Amino acid sequence: TQGGDAGMIRKLPELVINQIAAGEVVQRPANAVKELIENSLDAQATQITISARAGGLKLLQVQDNGKGIARADMDIVCERHTTSKLRELEDLQTIASFGFRGEALASVSHVAHVSLTSRTADAPCAYTCEYADGKPKAPTRLCAGNAGTTVTVEDLFFNQPTRTTALKSATDELNKIADVVTRYAVHNPAVSFTLRRFGAGNDLRTPGYGTVPAAITALFGSTVAKVRHGSIGDEEREVVLRAAGVLARPLFLGPVANGGRSSKKSMFMLFINERSVECRQLKQAIDLLFSTQDVVCPLVYLDLKIDPRRVDVNCHPTKNHVQFLDQTAVFERVQEVNFLDVEVEGLGTIVVCLA
Ligand code: ADP
Ligand code: MG
Repeated sequence: TQGGDAGMIRKLPELVINQIAAGEVVQRPANAVKELIENSLDAQATQITISARAGGLKLLQVQDNGKGIARADMDIVCERHTTSKLRELEDLQTIASFGFRGEALASVSHVAHVSLTSRTADAPCAYTCEYADGKPKAPTRLCAGNAGTTVTVEDLFFNQPTRTTALKSATDELNKIADVVTRYAVHNPAVSFTLRRFGAGNDLRTPGYGTVPAAITALFGSTVAKVRHGSIGDEEREVVLRAAGVLARPLFLGPVANGGRSSKKSMFMLFINERSVECRQLKQAIDLLFSTQDVVCPLVYLDLKIDPRRVDVNCHPTKNHVQFLDQTAVFERVQEVNFLDVEVEGLGTIVVCLA
């Protein structure tokens, strides 16, 4: 066509924009579980119960005893970019809550049937509402309910047939959900987590006693009851990064019966400033620690605290990845930690100083 003809570029309809965004935040049931758990933690819950049927595709429910959602917020809570957490861009530098985008509930409501029941401590009763595409389907109603919030997500991806076929089996999805719950349960030992799997596996449950070893023992059994910690660094210098680490008792390679976990596969749980994140380089650095030994470590839990001004939590919508300054130096320092030499029970603090 010649210049001067009608243009080809159109603004996408709002609904399409929102559905595309939703697909990025919620790629699989486990992403939704992560977001919902983070919301419960942001709401200061001390008990969180996650229920999943058919790998979370049929039903996903997260119930908490947190501070609840006020009646006045129920109408807009599932809209995109509505949040009680972030007010202005500067807040991103120091934000302590998990959420800040106001996108999780909105996203889920674009790819599933969502209902919320919530009660704040000072409300006379609970309120409930169902949502589709970010908006209430009908006015919020009164109902009975305890203080806290229950988010029910049904028929996830019912309107995204390609997504459901792309996902592997319900078992795989359930394992990914269990993995997310396990990470958060270990990292938040003062919160009692329960995962209900309805016949697809035993319930997972942590006591909420407040210690990482107690949570690990509840989840993994006695094989990891012994906890090690190591420390390096010079506390005199400026601390750029603090790390607490837990390693399971290393297992000698060979056909060891270790409570059902494959003896060669280790689980690496990494938290940076309270966020569960992936970091391939750091996992490699840790694997390297053991590569020369005759043992494998079935579980590594690393809790890094980095000056928030040196970390970018906003480099991906799932917030699964973070970027931080001095990455290489941090990896090198973690490699220097000789966990195997230190034999102290209980959780210690590893102080890593960067020159
Ligand atoms: P964000 O967490 O980024 O703010 P969400 O879409 O996850 O966005 O949640 C939107 C808002 O809904 C939150 O800011 C919070 O005020 C409220 N909310 C969501 N889940 C809960 C919950 N479990 N308990 C209390 N409030 C909640
Ligand atoms: Mg959130």
